[in-house]
Amino acid sequence: MRINVLGVGFDNVTMDEAVDRGMELLHSPGTHCVVTPNPEIVEVCRENLAARQAVNGADLVLPDGIGVVKGAKMLGTPLKEKVPGIEFAAGLMERMAAEGRSLYLLGAKPGVAETAGEKLAAKYPGLKIAGTQDGYFQEDGPVVEAIRQSGADCVFVCLGAPKQELWMSRHGQATGARLLCGLGGSLDVFAGVVERAPKFWSDHGLEWFYRLCKNPWRAKRMMKLPLFLVHVRKEKGRK
Ligand code: UDP
Repeated sequence: MRINVLGVGFDNVTMDEAVDRGMELLHSPGTHCVVTPNPEIVEVCRENLAARQAVNGADLVLPDGIGVVKGAKMLGTPLKEKVPGIEFAAGLMERMAAEGRSLYLLGAKPGVAETAGEKLAAKYPGLKIAGTQDGYFQEDGPVVEAIRQSGADCVFVCLGAPKQELWMSRHGQATGARLLCGLGGSLDVFAGVVERAPKFWSDHGLEWFYRLCKNPWRAKRMMKLPLFLVHVRKEKGRK
């Protein structure tokens, strides 16, 4: 049973369990999707039905960040722990490398996915980079075909939310990949274009604050965070 946080159902798993589930999906016939909503995406889902359906329709819904974990706790239905998408991706790549699996990197500005691919191939020997494509393409068809041709087992779809969730639910199956993971800005981090917050900040639930200080332009987007807490409080009052 999923844990409902303002209309988004989260899988109640630890990081290790999430990676195990990801690998199970990779081994199962058919196409499967993993999404990693943070409070900002939950807020988007409250207003956007298509986004909500795409997120809830995924096979694995992971709480990316402390905000969702706090929200679930306030609602009296705690989640085991935060499962940041980027750490989930790292765990998955380690396991995929051990099995010699292939990964396609889709998203971010031109050049970023290639650099990320080079760095990831060096970091995870055995992992095959099946192909890369930046996230500013005009037509979906050729991109879907390129992924299909590459024969990738897994695709990291990093187009920002809710674009990546909608893209995966519309085109996932046609790519022929077993697993697609929506991972926001992860390729920028893997390529070394953007730094993740140092451990101290994330250990103290302050990764969002670090990102805000580094990128003040995020302030408008981040206003969704206090809004999320207001909505959780309201929902709690109704219970
Ligand atoms: N992006 C993209 N295509 C688009 C819009 C965004 O590839 O049409 C990329 C953008 O370059 C960035 C990622 O999507 O690499 C979104 O990053 P952001 O930090 O906003 O995502 P978050 O991790 O906060 O969800």
